[in-house]
Amino acid sequence: MTDEKTSINDARRSKRFEKNPIKGTKFTIVISSAKGGVGKSTFASNLALALKNLNLKIGLLDADIYGPSLPKLFSINHKPESIEGKLIPIKKYNIQCISMGFLTEEQTPMIWRGPMVTSAIKTFTQKVDWNNLDFIIVDMPPGTGDTQLTFAQEVKVDGAIIVSTPQELALQDVKRGIAMFDKLNVKIIGLVDNMSFFIGDDGKKYSIFGDGGVKKTSIEFDKNFLGAIPINSDVGKFGDQGKPIVESEPEHEISKIYLNFAKQIKSIYLGD
Ligand code: ADP
Repeated sequence: MTDEKTSINDARRSKRFEKNPIKGTKFTIVISSAKGGVGKSTFASNLALALKNLNLKIGLLDADIYGPSLPKLFSINHKPESIEGKLIPIKKYNIQCISMGFLTEEQTPMIWRGPMVTSAIKTFTQKVDWNNLDFIIVDMPPGTGDTQLTFAQEVKVDGAIIVSTPQELALQDVKRGIAMFDKLNVKIIGLVDNMSFFIGDDGKKYSIFGDGGVKKTSIEFDKNFLGAIPINSDVGKFGDQGKPIVESEPEHEISKIYLNFAKQIKSIYLGD
């Protein structure tokens, strides 16, 4: 914890602290979560698809070097081309995609030290031929480690969304995530409460992980609350099929929630 704090402070003080925008996009939005398994990658991919459905040009950068999700979520099984030293993103569902998972075999464990992660992130942000995008949505690894630091130090990030589930344990870590982005001067667009509740066959609402915790945290830290997504088995089903719910069933109630998130993001950065 002390090391982490020290390096964040070093990053802020550094004279070399120069942030470069990712070339080829107007805005870069990172999707972050304090813990794994809260639905961050699912959120990132469905948000990207919902923004695309608003006629925006979108890129999806899977920055989770250790546990890439995009190959599975978008069913992409081939390597990107490289032209004149630049990687060409793979276009799927009309979204430009890059993931470490496109470059390695599925079962290969990524046993990488910090500097290697930093260099992979630099490649993804400086050596990819992103083409004429409105937004790049970045799926961050969970936590507050090397990838987050590299991003915040080197890349001009226009906003961060923090995804959480409502359990007390997850919320503890969300607070750490908020503190990290605040220290690194990255604007927090807001918090999302995923797997917030479940509607049973009886039509009743069950708050399985507790009620309203993410919203309370956003109020406590004076951040926006962007909204809640219920538990719905269709989310996992379509994700497993390699065609996320927003692409498979744009009229689904869950897809409409995502469209609402996308409209909020569009309105913040591009106006209505
Ligand atoms: P993370 O990126 O935070 O590790 P994932 O996006 O991989 O999490 O999601 C973890 C699991 O939870 C996946 O099986 C996914 O399909 C499922 N999931 C995510 N959001 C929901 C939801 N709202 N309802 C039901 N299942 C969900």
